[in-house]
Amino acid sequence: MEEFLKKLPKVELHAHLNGSLGIESLRDLAERLYGSTSEEFSQLCQRFIQFDRNSDLDACFKKFSFVHELTSTVEGLRYATELAVRDFDKDNVQYVEIRTTPKANSNYSRRDYLQTVIDAIRTAREKYPRILVKLLPSINRAEPLAAAEETVSLSIEFARSHPDLVLGIDFSGNPGKGRFADFVPILSRARDMGLKLVIHCAEIENPPEVKEMLQFGMSRCGHGTFLDPIDITYLKERNIAIECCLTSNLKSGTVPDLKEHHLKRLMKADAHKVLCTDDSGVFDTTLSKEFLLASEVFGLSRNQCISLTLEAVHHSLANDEERNQMAVKVKDYAASLA
Ligand SMILES: [Zn+2]
Repeated sequence: MEEFLKKLPKVELHAHLNGSLGIESLRDLAERLYGSTSEEFSQLCQRFIQFDRNSDLDACFKKFSFVHELTSTVEGLRYATELAVRDFDKDNVQYVEIRTTPKANSNYSRRDYLQTVIDAIRTAREKYPRILVKLLPSINRAEPLAAAEETVSLSIEFARSHPDLVLGIDFSGNPGKGRFADFVPILSRARDMGLKLVIHCAEIENPPEVKEMLQFGMSRCGHGTFLDPIDITYLKERNIAIECCLTSNLKSGTVPDLKEHHLKRLMKADAHKVLCTDDSGVFDTTLSKEFLLASEVFGLSRNQCISLTLEAVHHSLANDEERNQMAVKVKDYAASLA
């Protein structure tokens, strides 16, 4: 099964850039930025060792802040993007939609940030031609509305200049912060301008907000941990897929036990769902490992893994031609095993 899953041409629809760097890539990034003989690098390596041994939530948060440090320069951000693509390619992911919140600091503006990521994806496409990469700029709900407005304006502009690359907007961040209703006008503008919306929804228990989000609408639902049966039916009827991230939910504590993961309920309800990693580097996983977990916990067969991948192809934001090509790769792989 492991070998079968590794070789499966997978489709990743929920991946945050800063969380998607594996430990080797973090090391490569630090080495590129500081040089392998520098004091900074040897200090960073000490911190890597701690990450290797420890994967509790606290360690995960430390990893996040650590990556933010390493990507706080144009060069760090550029190389991190390339390495994230390398990591997905290594896991035989044939298509990935990468999300990231454009940040501003003394080294770059939000515009520079997006431009850097876009340029890096273009370079990565040449280096790793097997994988198709798309970009979804994120709104961080914990940040002020003005930041979200700027992100949407820039995304509209970049979607025009890079229509093959910038496809939509992600709404994410600490679900305990910010009010969804406050972001509705901004998100509406993005949608009116042709951007697709993927929304982190029902990550924590908050039924009134979930209703607001569902009513507003979305192309896909991120996590959906606390959706009730009526919500699940509502999404199913509207052909909206729920992005399930098993390890992420377990390690961040929103799901106490994988056996109780809502993927089980979604499978039972025959709802639209896809398997994703969320933050593969931080949570020390890969999409292959997520499929393996799902097969171990819920008894997914090879055929079900193929179907789930084809479902991910269908729910991706790629154009028809790209989706047809992806589906052909999956079907050819399935046929090669028969
Ligand atoms: Zn996420």
